[in-house]
Amino acid sequence: MCHIEQEIRNIGILAHVDAGKTSLTEQLLYLCGATRSLGNVDEGTAQTDWLSVERRRGISVKAASARLEYQNTVINLIDTPGHVDFVGEVERSLSVLDGAVLVLSSMKGVQAHTELIWQALRRLELPVLLVVNKLDRPGCRVAEVVAQIKEELSDQLLLLQSAELEGCEACVVHHHRLSEPAFREDALLAAASWDETLAQRYLDGEDISDQALAQALRKGAWAGRIFPVLFTSAKLGVGIQELLEAILAYLPPARTDTSGPLSGVVYKVEHDPVMGKAAHVRLFGGSLHARDAVTLFGKTEPEKITQIRRFSGKRGTDTGSLSSGDIGALYGLTSVKTGDVLGSQALSRSCRLTVPLLMVQVFPEQEESLVSLMEALRELCEEDPLLNLSWNKEERELYIQITGRIQLEVLEDLLWERYHLRAYFSDPSVIYKETPTHSGVGFESYTMPKPCWAVVKLAIEPLPRGSGIVYQSAIKENELFYRYQNHVETSVYETLKQGIYGWEVVDAKITLIGGQHHTVHTHPLDFFVATPMAVLKGLTDCGSTLLEPLVQVRLSAQEDCLGRVIRDILHMRGTFDAPVLHRESFTLEATLPVATSLDYPAQFRSLTSGKGLYSSRFAGYQECPLELGATTKRRGCDPLDRSRWILHMRSAL
Ligand code: GDP
Ligand code: MG
Repeated sequence: MCHIEQEIRNIGILAHVDAGKTSLTEQLLYLCGATRSLGNVDEGTAQTDWLSVERRRGISVKAASARLEYQNTVINLIDTPGHVDFVGEVERSLSVLDGAVLVLSSMKGVQAHTELIWQALRRLELPVLLVVNKLDRPGCRVAEVVAQIKEELSDQLLLLQSAELEGCEACVVHHHRLSEPAFREDALLAAASWDETLAQRYLDGEDISDQALAQALRKGAWAGRIFPVLFTSAKLGVGIQELLEAILAYLPPARTDTSGPLSGVVYKVEHDPVMGKAAHVRLFGGSLHARDAVTLFGKTEPEKITQIRRFSGKRGTDTGSLSSGDIGALYGLTSVKTGDVLGSQALSRSCRLTVPLLMVQVFPEQEESLVSLMEALRELCEEDPLLNLSWNKEERELYIQITGRIQLEVLEDLLWERYHLRAYFSDPSVIYKETPTHSGVGFESYTMPKPCWAVVKLAIEPLPRGSGIVYQSAIKENELFYRYQNHVETSVYETLKQGIYGWEVVDAKITLIGGQHHTVHTHPLDFFVATPMAVLKGLTDCGSTLLEPLVQVRLSAQEDCLGRVIRDILHMRGTFDAPVLHRESFTLEATLPVATSLDYPAQFRSLTSGKGLYSSRFAGYQECPLELGATTKRRGCDPLDRSRWILHMRSAL
């Protein structure tokens, strides 16, 4: 095996859909000689858009990696989907990156999805290069976009280049050098704004060498405190070499810790008809070899790796091993699913960008194909756990959760292409949640019919939006054995998946304030019978408030549509900020309930004759009057139907 130590950089290419991520990836691959011909998204030949749905639709659906080598450095580029429906895929990719290239279109500037990604990148403190692409497009607004970035994303920018002759095919980028006085001044200010010693030296009028300055800029970028800005035309191949060099200079190499303990995260799972399941992992520590046995975090049985491959687009090569810092695909792990962790959990980071907002029922074309459909969906669920497949045994109903309509269309395509299955979907219904209206108590004394003994008393309190569920116990072992207290805790979490209205309960604090077992009568699993009854009685005592999901949208269009758009927003129970007027157009930020705005993107498109810009992102949950929302059918037996529940649980346990 060859052993020249190469540096590795795992870089994500992120953007709102259509900014040019896939085209830029293609140009970078071509420049480094990783591909012999230049692929094209519009012709369906890009390396990283290789699923047939992607080629047909011209959008990326899955994160795909491409490997290139430049100046003795390996760059793993991860091209991510930009459509809001696939943001779950972006979320998973973020956990494996050392740095990011955030692409903006010179036509559209900062879009809602750009902001969402930016916030996630900042929360993870990842270093970022900002790229303004489509420099060649007539009517591009390069200066405006830079001003907008400064205003809406960060003022810690460093413009590495200036664009010339933008808006036509003759466009070029001029890459600044530190010998240019104006750039040197900008660079000094950028470096001084985060490096205090350099700032002091600057103030003292000391000479700062180019080398020291370059070093300070690099460190600032690596620390996620200075954001270099570049210009490109992915269509014409302008600015690509400069981008590659900026990746090497301003995005940090992966830290490698090959001798440390094994630590990795599975960011993507694929099912290959020939090779079987592939788990794409990033290793943070340790190393892996084919035939190694690994135990996934939270599991007990080790599984054997049969093969390790390295991927570039669709092509994989057998490498036999994978070491810390690198990404690759592992075969042979039969139980693995996306998001799983190898070894210790400590080193991976993740960041929630969305939750599934919609639920749809899935119907097979014929009743006979129900089992194969379930099997196929189960496989797709291992690839994308957010799908959250559920099977209601009593009613023989199959449900999945999704983020939007495009995702559903893609799913339909995938089912057909991969499994030759046709499925029908119900109209999507919004996933509501519920929360206690005020504090209350739930008490259950399950002591009849003997033999049984489990007494549970819970205090329930509402918590602020976004708090989730907090559980604690206020009683000691001598009141209730810890073993039983653990049963109560497990059962509380399980029961809260369906509240009074049938939706998941969130933003509540549950405290175990009383309990009793009986040394003779208590059957080992009695607390699993009693706790759900106590929880639901408690929730009834508190009253339940419905919560509905919201999206934050940004709309831009011609000024003459403004009145109509505002009326529409009010009609959808939305709220909005003061519109920003610019030339003959306006931009408006609004918050809309998902339930009322599902079809608005299409309406807005026709209202603005296709010229308006519409982008949206998840913006949390808010209270909603019951009459404007919906309840959902309870799955399984209702713990409030006491005697049926007890009978049901006793036979089940
Ligand atoms: P992605 O959705 O971010 O992956 O964007 P794609 O790479 O698929 O590009 C979206 C569309 O923009 C395609 O039609 C590309 O041909 C086009 N495009 C990408 N980069 C450029 C560019 O620099 N200039 C022009 N004029 N078009 C571009
Ligand atoms: Mg793409």
